[in-house]
Amino acid sequence: MLVGVPKEIKTREFRVGLVPSSVAELVGRGHKVLVETNAGAGIGAGDDAYRAVGAEIAATAADVFAKAEMIVKVKEPQPSEWVQLSSDQILFTYLHLAADAPQAYGLVDSGCTAIAYETITDDQGGLPLLAPMSEVAGRLAVVEGASHLKANAGGRGILISGVPGTAPAEVVIIGGGVVGVNAAKMAVGLGARVTVFDRSVPRLRYLSDIFGNAISTRYSSNAVLAEAVKQADMVIGAVLIPGASAPQLITRAQLSGMKPGAVLVDVAIDQGGCFETSKPTTHDDPTYIIDDIVHYCVANMPGSVPRTSSEALNNATLPHVLALADKGVAALDDDPHLMNGLNVRNGEIVYQAVLDALGSRS
Ligand code: NAD
Repeated sequence: MLVGVPKEIKTREFRVGLVPSSVAELVGRGHKVLVETNAGAGIGAGDDAYRAVGAEIAATAADVFAKAEMIVKVKEPQPSEWVQLSSDQILFTYLHLAADAPQAYGLVDSGCTAIAYETITDDQGGLPLLAPMSEVAGRLAVVEGASHLKANAGGRGILISGVPGTAPAEVVIIGGGVVGVNAAKMAVGLGARVTVFDRSVPRLRYLSDIFGNAISTRYSSNAVLAEAVKQADMVIGAVLIPGASAPQLITRAQLSGMKPGAVLVDVAIDQGGCFETSKPTTHDDPTYIIDDIVHYCVANMPGSVPRTSSEALNNATLPHVLALADKGVAALDDDPHLMNGLNVRNGEIVYQAVLDALGSRS
């Protein structure tokens, strides 16, 4: 199969659909890979790095879209991209169609087979192509939070670990899923005192089993959480209620009861945020301060570490990329988890949750 990798064009998106080591695997199995010039620049992989593993370099995205049988990307296609897709092409990328009718109908009209990373499942009932980005965001949340605890960033002026004879930071993590576990690992590693809140008792048991006494676990009732937030130097919002907006777990009124200079990192901002005062920010201007509390609410946190993120994403996508390259759309029939990724086929939306969210086409 001829697999195409266009350069990502969404603003400040530096990741790339296939890293050179993934291209090498495809080429090793007899496939051809066409990479748009500079597609890997954001991860430090120049055209020569792709040529070295057997890719061909295309001068424009139009060349890639015109020739490739499968397009592998990171972000959802932009309007200028979906008009270039055709009925004999597979598109494999993050789509998030439920909240994006123009894109959904753009893909329908193209006739392409669109498979979404985010709806592919695994045997454990998880979403294995979302997990790597949650891992990145969870770990990064602590790095960013610690950095914004510095006085020059508006924070309390404390070092997350403390030093001998001083107290370490109190870190409260709300939501002990993939983001929360990774945030906890990082915060524990840096020497903070960590409390993880969740509403799932089995999840709290699991966290207690893996972390032992390195963290405290608490059931996320409003009253207990409100008390912990008052003592916190850093609060990380990492909740997810599948298919719903994030619940607002810290109100504006609570901010005045917190320590001035404490930092709120709202990782759940991509689902609306779990603090009342959260609003999406960007990597260029990541924070704002309300009532002396620093808010960090970047909706695409993994975008700031594109090398780690592209590699982690490829580790999860590569088996599916190889199956699709080897078998074409027949790979869907052989793997029910990959089939769950199918969102658009033959000019129709075929993923029920997307259909439910979009209603009938006006
Ligand atoms: P997950 O499903 O693995 O974990 C969510 C956890 O939240 C679950 O354990 C659930 O029991 C818990 N929860 C639900 N309601 C709760 C409540 N009221 N109090 C405490 N815990 C509660 O999800 P995840 O992969 O960890 O993702 C968490 C959030 O981070 C999602 O909104 C996801 O979209 C977001 N995310 C954001 C970025 C970013 O760049 N900002 C990147 C990756 C993920």
